[in-house]
Amino acid sequence: PKSETVGPLVGAVVQGTNSTRFLVFNSSTTELVTYHQVELVQDYPKEGWVEQDPKEILQSVYECIEQTGQKLAKLNVDASAIKAIGISNQRETTVIWDKFTGEPLYNAVVWLDLRTQTTVEKLSKKIPGNNNFVKSKTGLPLSTYFSAVKLRWLLDNVQKVQNALDEGRLLFGTVDSWLIWNMTGGTNGGLHCTDVTNASRTMLFNIHYLEWDKELCSFFEIPMSILPTVLSSSEIYGKVSQGVLEGVPISGCLGDQSAALVGHMCFQEGQAKSTYGTGCFLLCNTGRKCIFSEHGLLTTVAYKLGKDKPACYALEGSVAIAGAAARWLRDNLGIIDSPQEIETLAKEVGTSYGCYFVPAFSGLYAPYWEPSARGILCGITQFTNKSHIAFAALEAICFQTREILEAMNHDCGIPLSHLQADGALTQNRVLMQLQADILHIPVIKSTMPETTALGAAIAAGAAEGVEVWSLKTDTLPNIKVEKFEPQINTTESETRYATWKKAVQKSMGWVT
Ligand code: ADP
Repeated sequence: PKSETVGPLVGAVVQGTNSTRFLVFNSSTTELVTYHQVELVQDYPKEGWVEQDPKEILQSVYECIEQTGQKLAKLNVDASAIKAIGISNQRETTVIWDKFTGEPLYNAVVWLDLRTQTTVEKLSKKIPGNNNFVKSKTGLPLSTYFSAVKLRWLLDNVQKVQNALDEGRLLFGTVDSWLIWNMTGGTNGGLHCTDVTNASRTMLFNIHYLEWDKELCSFFEIPMSILPTVLSSSEIYGKVSQGVLEGVPISGCLGDQSAALVGHMCFQEGQAKSTYGTGCFLLCNTGRKCIFSEHGLLTTVAYKLGKDKPACYALEGSVAIAGAAARWLRDNLGIIDSPQEIETLAKEVGTSYGCYFVPAFSGLYAPYWEPSARGILCGITQFTNKSHIAFAALEAICFQTREILEAMNHDCGIPLSHLQADGALTQNRVLMQLQADILHIPVIKSTMPETTALGAAIAAGAAEGVEVWSLKTDTLPNIKVEKFEPQINTTESETRYATWKKAVQKSMGWVT
């Protein structure tokens, strides 16, 4: 078919921690037409440090777009049918570059990176007034996770970065800003902007007023001149300046977890989703209310779908390591050849045989926020083999999700009746069944796992001036789902969950 017959297409760049993808959706049916994916290198230069090369990130985006263009051509579809693109990206990861040369001044410091532990300790000693100073403005606990402390570390420790600041050459951005600046022209007029969802993860953004916060910037000693302009998640930011998509508007931008929430069409208060990728993130839409958690969850901007539309908020439970544990079993232990193989191994045994794996590689995030935790494997006997370890790794993802769900139920008051799931790991059926068993509620996954991409595409396609999509849920096509019902008895899963909690306690306090 020629492009006219497939209807307008909308593209989505999904720049994740593990991989980059470019996907193209048919706006009439929401069907995924084609896509291309590239796995990314992660550097661990020192223990606890996690970096990525910003240029490799950018190149991977260009490569995915080019390859997708070729795949479209093979389908006899002209790339000019793509009317807009949206961007969804790994959040918090910090990029700094020279606005005159376009060169990054350091590797991207990835959200999982722990080098800022001492920076966090120093900052927490100088918090003005009460301890709530940062949290009440940003919804976030002072932690190594968020961009402001990473940026502070870069200014304190990398002379080149401080020099660039002194000489008025420095720009800061999360990955979305880095991509949009480059894709809209870079040194040749690139736009330095971000959206409210990404801004809300920097720890410099006031989530009530939806603007950079002067007091926070002065607390972190970060000049506001290097920060991107904050826009809504759905509006035309600019046009792609080169390649097959030259001239196509970039009109959607959301942090990956917000994009998934939109992709699941969780537009009502109380609707929640969980995305299983490198980490695992459960977000519950709280509407226009900014709810502060009493149980270790974050408050974050969920989306703002249009310049004049209100912002909606979410409560978020973040788990640092989910799929990354599978990557670790592949790359560091070599007990599997691909992350998918973890399912085959786990299925062979169907139990961890009393073995527990707490993958606290980057400390523990929600609900503990415990930077001193490190990974442990316990309950090992002579009998334990790699299949049991694989099973324990999957079980760890499910137990962590249960802890988050319990916190969410406490904060929201109304327990979730089911869990909507997406992300690469939802292909793993053993994991999905195990999750339903451990939560005692059904887990519902979309048969199309690319919900994050769909969310970014919807934001782009619904933007004013593009309007190939409308945001009225009744006009958006239904997404096909598959349901996993709890199968094992409650007593058995409760016992396992209690032992998991014991293992978590043992993982804490390793680093002092
Ligand atoms: P991100 O968006 O964070 O880049 P993805 O959604 O691409 O992540 O998920 C990739 C992660 O999921 C990797 O860490 C990989 O090890 C893991 N993964 C992918 N497929 C499976 C699977 N079938 N079972 C378990 N883990 C998987």
